[in-house]
Formats: sequence, structure tokens, C-alpha cells
Amino acid sequence: MSEFVISPAAPVSLPIAGQSARFPIHRIFCVGRNYEAHAKEMGVAADREAPFYFTKAAVHAVESGATVPYPPGTSSYHYEMELVVAIGKGGFRIAETDALDHVFGYACGLDMTRRDLQAAAKEKQRPWDLGKDVEQSAVAGTIAPAATIGHPSSGTIELRVNGVTKQSADISTMIHGVTAIIAHLSKYYHLQAGDLIYTGTPEGVGAVKAGDRLEGSVAGVGTVELVLGAAE
Ligand code: MN
Repeated sequence: MSEFVISPAAPVSLPIAGQSARFPIHRIFCVGRNYEAHAKEMGVAADREAPFYFTKAAVHAVESGATVPYPPGTSSYHYEMELVVAIGKGGFRIAETDALDHVFGYACGLDMTRRDLQAAAKEKQRPWDLGKDVEQSAVAGTIAPAATIGHPSSGTIELRVNGVTKQSADISTMIHGVTAIIAHLSKYYHLQAGDLIYTGTPEGVGAVKAGDRLEGSVAGVGTVELVLGAAE
């Protein structure tokens, strides 16, 4: 057994519906501009040719129900409600027809974003890390196993802030669906069990403030909740 000069971090993990074992998170991929109306509200055109991605460190994952401090360095912290795919079997250059075999399950997620810093990065043609790779910004609910719920391709995706509906769309309006994303992403990465893919947000994104309570849902999948605490 190896010894380490500092204690290695424990794996970050999520609960799984119907079982006590947890799902360890390996990597977090996020799809950008995957709903036409959201791309439009961001003032950009969606790319129907191919999806694109950014990543968040796995340690930024937060379990549903948490209260997280309003993050530093922003005055425009936005919610993005998303369907999350949990990869259960690795693969490279996965065919679209085989893609669902690699899915362990699905969860509801929030891709929390420093919108002001993301906008500044776009303006200066810089990477999005300060806008997207934010500590405690990858919120995820309990994973519903595909063995139980199947593979949802339609259903309402919603986000409420303090009980007021802010986002409401259908996951069937995603530009690049789950199988297309897995096939495309696996051309560039050897997907591994434990990878999460946030599949993009529909229209209606907006800013939150300390004290706000966020509640999201995807029909047939589950829910996700987050409370914004005071800034540190
Ligand atoms: Mn997103």
C-alpha cells in the first residue's frame, strides 16, 4: 500500500436511488448551448453540427440539499438546470447505437455559473474556467438507475427559485441528444465509469442571491435542490 505525504482526498460521490452504495464521480463534462432558446438568450447561435464542452473538477460536485456560500468574484451567479448522465461503463469511440449501454443512470443537476466572468472570458477570447469551474458549482441530485427508469428522451425540465418557476422546457428539445453526445465525446476522451455529463440548460437562466432556494426537476428522473448562503 502506498504512503502519501498528504492525505489523499476521499472520492466525491452521489447517492443512488434504491441502494445504499454510492456513485463515485470521476470527471464532470458539460455541454454548452444545447437548447436553441438558451443559445438565443445568450446572444449566440447554437451549433447543430456538433456539441462542445467544458469541464468542472469532480471535487466541485455538491449533493442536492446543500447550502453553499455565494461564491467570490462574481455579482451575477446564475443557475442552469440540466439533465445529468452518469456513465457506468467506459468506452472509446462509442457508436451512437451502443451509447445507452454505457449509461448507469440519470440525475438532475445545476451547472452554477459566474455569468459575468464567463461573459468577460468570451469577450477576451479566454477560457471559461473562472466562469464555470467554480467551487461547489456542480450540484447533482440522487442518481436514478437506467435499470429502473429507463432512458428518458422527453419530459419536463423545470427550475424554481423561491417557488417561482424560472425555467420550463422539455428535454426532447435538446439539440444533441444523450446518444449523440456520448458518441461525440468518446471520440475525444476514453469515457470512464464515474464520468458525469451535464447535457445543457434550456432558456430562462438567471441570477441568484444569498438566501435563494433553488428547486429543479426532470420528469421521471428526480429533483435537485440548492440554497445559496451568505458570501464568505
Ligand atoms: Mn450548462
